[in-house]
Amino acid sequence: MIATKNVQSFIGGKFRDSSAQKVDPIPNPATGQTIASLPHSTREEIDEAVAAAKKAFPTWSETPVPERAQVMFRFKALFDKHIDELSAIVTQENGKTLDESRGEVKRAIEVIDFACGAPTLMMGHNLDQIARGIDEELTRFPVGVVAGITPFNFPNMVPMWMIPVAIVTGNTFVLKPSQLTPLSAMRIAELLDEAGLPEGVFNVVHGANDAVNQLLKHPDISAISFVGSATVAAYIYATAAANGKRVQALGGAKNHILVMDDADLELSAPHVISSAFGNAGQRCLAGSVAVGVGKIGDALVRELANDAAKLKVGPGTDPKTTLGPVIRGERKQKLIEYIDGAEAEGAQLISDGREVDQKDGFFLGPTIFDRVTPNMKIWKDELFGPVLSVVRASDIDEALKVLNSSTYGNMASIFTGSGKYAREFKRRAQAGMLGVNIGVAAPMAFLPFTGWKNSFFGDLHATGQDSIRFYTRHKVVTTRWL
Ligand code: NAD
Repeated sequence: MIATKNVQSFIGGKFRDSSAQKVDPIPNPATGQTIASLPHSTREEIDEAVAAAKKAFPTWSETPVPERAQVMFRFKALFDKHIDELSAIVTQENGKTLDESRGEVKRAIEVIDFACGAPTLMMGHNLDQIARGIDEELTRFPVGVVAGITPFNFPNMVPMWMIPVAIVTGNTFVLKPSQLTPLSAMRIAELLDEAGLPEGVFNVVHGANDAVNQLLKHPDISAISFVGSATVAAYIYATAAANGKRVQALGGAKNHILVMDDADLELSAPHVISSAFGNAGQRCLAGSVAVGVGKIGDALVRELANDAAKLKVGPGTDPKTTLGPVIRGERKQKLIEYIDGAEAEGAQLISDGREVDQKDGFFLGPTIFDRVTPNMKIWKDELFGPVLSVVRASDIDEALKVLNSSTYGNMASIFTGSGKYAREFKRRAQAGMLGVNIGVAAPMAFLPFTGWKNSFFGDLHATGQDSIRFYTRHKVVTTRWL
């Protein structure tokens, strides 16, 4: 576990106390009690972190790729060894259940697995005799200093979408984790240090908007990887690009799950429930809108209400808990305002999570609305909490019309027994990640994590071959020997 109560930064291979004036308390969302204090790094400290990364770059980028991969193999062994502890840190700072945290850390390990293959993944290609006596070859090079800016909901996994691939391809890195969940990042730094990563290759600074703006405009940073809400993602994309940086910015979501009238409800409904309420709904892949298609609507709502009633609200450390708290009291209040508003707009409240049997912490029970329509705020906005909307549609065309009219396009799923419906859905749904009889269509690290519309700003997505391309730039050499 983290040794000090004051969260440190990690700059040039050293864990350091900050001289910051601004300090935030970090509560455990399940108890509301302060578990650490977070000083926001000063401008000078952030400059020092970027300078350390810049200084480390020439040597690290010249280190042979198989040697860089060896650091990843050792890092992977340490992640495996400490999986319980890493999961406990996630539960402590984020609130999700220990099972959910373990799932998150396992996903992070898959990215390290992927990064271990860098000698193969970084290979270029060539064409002999492209013209008479002339050959051409493409080779890949790292881009320089990369900054990562991450959200609170996956404090271990999301930074790990970026760090292993960026580093193994020869870049150096400055991470600014969410100011709400800064503890996992520090344990990642400790393990990278233990794995033998040279000093300055990986650095961690803390803070919020000011820290981000400094990184976005810093002349020594070449690329920005961002994951967070849509409005911030759009801002990051525009600002980083205007400052000459390569940028990938993953945004928020409003994911629709179509339940067709030929779906097996008993098998399908539990997947919809775990998609909507897993991680307390604080997941960019949360299925927050279920679309009952055809005659299935009433039965679907009944089944969802029954399954939601079986969820056990409580602290993530209790093995019986299936629905943990949301991240902060203010977020809980905002969700309650959405629930009040949806009632006022005429949506039918089926399960009401506003009253829960927990006196401390930021808990909200599972909430389900039926008869939600696309003109309602609860349908338009990403709520990011344990609230599920049910929309009724008469057929697949109407269901796809609703889905495709969302301004987001992260994930969409269909539950059906029909290959024809599945095919229509796969071709026509406007989202980057699609599931067929899958509630949370999360790709593994070997494929890119993609989103459409306001769920993604940029060209190359996170993980998979996209990430290798994002963190490298290539040269094409044309050669003739006279
Ligand atoms: P957020 O946008 O509030 O914060 C994300 C990061 O941006 C944090 O590090 C924060 O300090 C920084 N930030 C916030 N506001 C800023 C501003 N005005 N200027 C500069 N920097 C700013 O997101 P969050 O609440 O931490 O996380 C939840 C959001 O992340 C949800 O919208 C969720 O859908 C999204 N998310 C998306 C994905 C994906 O893959 N698309 C994955 C995880 C989370």
